Amino acid sequence: MSRPVVTRFAPSPTGFLHIGGGRTALFNWLYAKHTGGKMLLRIEDTDRERSTEAAIAAILDGLQWLGLDWEGETVFQFARAPRHREVVEELLAAGKAYRCYCTPAELEAMREKARAEGRAPRYDGTWRDRDPSEAPAGVAPAIRIKAPLEGETAIEDRVQGRVVIPNKDLDDLVLLRSDGNPTYMLSVVVDDHDMGVTHIIRGDDHLTNAARQMIIYQAMGWEVPVMAHIPLIHGPDGAKLSKRHGALGVDAYRAMGFLPEAMRNYLVRLGWAHGDDEIMSMEQMIEWFDIDDVGRSASRFDFAKLENLNGHY
Ligand code: GLU
Repeated sequence: MSRPVVTRFAPSPTGFLHIGGGRTALFNWLYAKHTGGKMLLRIEDTDRERSTEAAIAAILDGLQWLGLDWEGETVFQFARAPRHREVVEELLAAGKAYRCYCTPAELEAMREKARAEGRAPRYDGTWRDRDPSEAPAGVAPAIRIKAPLEGETAIEDRVQGRVVIPNKDLDDLVLLRSDGNPTYMLSVVVDDHDMGVTHIIRGDDHLTNAARQMIIYQAMGWEVPVMAHIPLIHGPDGAKLSKRHGALGVDAYRAMGFLPEAMRNYLVRLGWAHGDDEIMSMEQMIEWFDIDDVGRSASRFDFAKLENLNGHY
């Protein structure tokens, strides 16, 4: 028997719960309910300068207003940094990661060289096989993973299909910065693994991160969760969604008097549809929603449609 589905919503608390975040949460919640699984909540508060208590409160509040609950305690990513460092120690001990003593100036020179040669910047692997006894005194190292040098990394994405990235395009990414802080890439993988997440449903702006994250899963010998990267929401003109298009935080719509039922109905149809059905009860959404039916093209935000839907309630 396969494991019960565990999804998660993992917002960075750097602002309110926006339309895209609300939709990601809804899809994760619906998929968990549809399969009889559960959704977890992880607050990705590792960016200490931009994360705020007010944003955390706004996100929790927005989820509650939308009627989206989560199972168990909320996980706060920053508090898990000791566990992230522990994984780095394991990778170092297994020879799958190494200390990189490059100075900022050396790294900049690498980027400069790549720019001059018209290619994407890539760490050149200087410290990959270098003897640590050559380490310059007084320089705190960053820890990098040994990414595969040849072949390709493939993601079997439930929305995007098979996505293949040549390994030569993925560098030896940093796991731990020289100040001892884990990188976002590492934290996400360790947390998803430890939380038992089976399905990662998130915006397709994370697709290239997914390939990098696969390298960490492989190095740790961990099972890679099912991935579903959903297309971003665009404005009515096809450009990136912005406030100019009327895309505000979920709380702003609430303040304007929109009903959560209308908002849910509106959000669920951004990238997914069940025939021509516009008005659906929560029960119907749960019954009908499936990640395999999410479309591959970007959806467009349309304020008038949302208003129209609200009129039905
Ligand atoms: N914290 C990320 C964001 O808010 C999401 C990371 C993820 O879903 O893996 O964009």
